[in-house]
Amino acid sequence: MNRVYNFSAGPATLPEPVLQKAADEMLCYGDSGQSVMEMSHRSKEYQAIIDECESLLRSVMSIPDNYKVLFLQGGASSQFAMIPLNLMNKTGKADFVLTGQWATKAYKEAARYGECNVVASSKDKTFSYIPELDKSKFNPTADYFHICQNNTIYGTRFAELPETGNVPLVADMSSCILSEPVDVSKYGLIYAGAQKNMGPAGLTVVIIREDLIGNAKDFTPTMFNYQTHADNGSMFNTPPTYGIYILKLVLEWIIEKGGLTAMKELNEKKAAVLYNFLDSSKLFKATVQGKDRSLMNVPFVTGNEELDAKFVAEAKKSGFINIKGHRSVGGMRASIYNAMPIEGVEKLVSFMEKFEKENA
Ligand SMILES: *Cc1c(COP(=O)(O)O)cnc(C)c1O
Repeated sequence: MNRVYNFSAGPATLPEPVLQKAADEMLCYGDSGQSVMEMSHRSKEYQAIIDECESLLRSVMSIPDNYKVLFLQGGASSQFAMIPLNLMNKTGKADFVLTGQWATKAYKEAARYGECNVVASSKDKTFSYIPELDKSKFNPTADYFHICQNNTIYGTRFAELPETGNVPLVADMSSCILSEPVDVSKYGLIYAGAQKNMGPAGLTVVIIREDLIGNAKDFTPTMFNYQTHADNGSMFNTPPTYGIYILKLVLEWIIEKGGLTAMKELNEKKAAVLYNFLDSSKLFKATVQGKDRSLMNVPFVTGNEELDAKFVAEAKKSGFINIKGHRSVGGMRASIYNAMPIEGVEKLVSFMEKFEKENA
């Protein structure tokens, strides 16, 4: 068996020990005589899995007691509607920073339910930077302030959070959750699709301050009301049982590696290997500069579309897959989530050096 280095933006590579453990337990979980996939979500065995998953997530992220953890479905994209349905309930207004496609989708969906104010945008330069935020443009009576903390497609991230005062900060952390420690108490709501840094597609995690639950708009579908899921321990209906189990294994792996502080250190090291090479290369160039650079998604170009295509094809033949950039940026993108080992990044850089020599 030859496993490749998978630089996909998502669904993405998972830690090998997690996959191995899941394989070992595939036919029979503990002494249950069945696979986790086959278990009733109402069984004692499964309840222990979801409880352990929540408790590990709370401990790994230091989630304060006044926050609920919800295990949902529908992807981060469903949250684009669920958030305004539940949170736009006082003034019916919300603030947005447009830093890419996901942030813009969140804004457009929310605008169907209330008045959305664009505080700043970086669309003028293909979202290749995080715009400066002018506080006088913040609405102090907004029901929430939305950011996409790490911009998966464009490779930027908020190095500092906007100071929103009493306005709850809502963050799409789909592509950066668990990559470094965050102070959860600074947020009203954090959400993430699991398929980047947490597990398989199909699970969406929401971490929400309790006081933001319980004021959904009247016409909110039952399944889109956070209260429904908070009141039922994410078991109003069948939760994505297997995805939650894999997240539990991923969290155990993170703890074994030293937690989020160790993840951050490793992620900074991996990103430095790649950015340092890009900054010294005569052929390849990073599309993002300075402090806005993402630790998770690294887009780069040669400036020549044919050469980009040749690189992507040769990389694939050498076992570096899914390295083609998003069509709106072109070029390449290496997503280097927690589960990408540093050897994967080092080998990619060696491959890039060789390609550069051969194509000088
Ligand atoms: C992938 C991604 C999404 C979309 O997630 P789905 O789970 O496919 O809905 C949203 N936001 C960000 C930042 C993403 O990376």
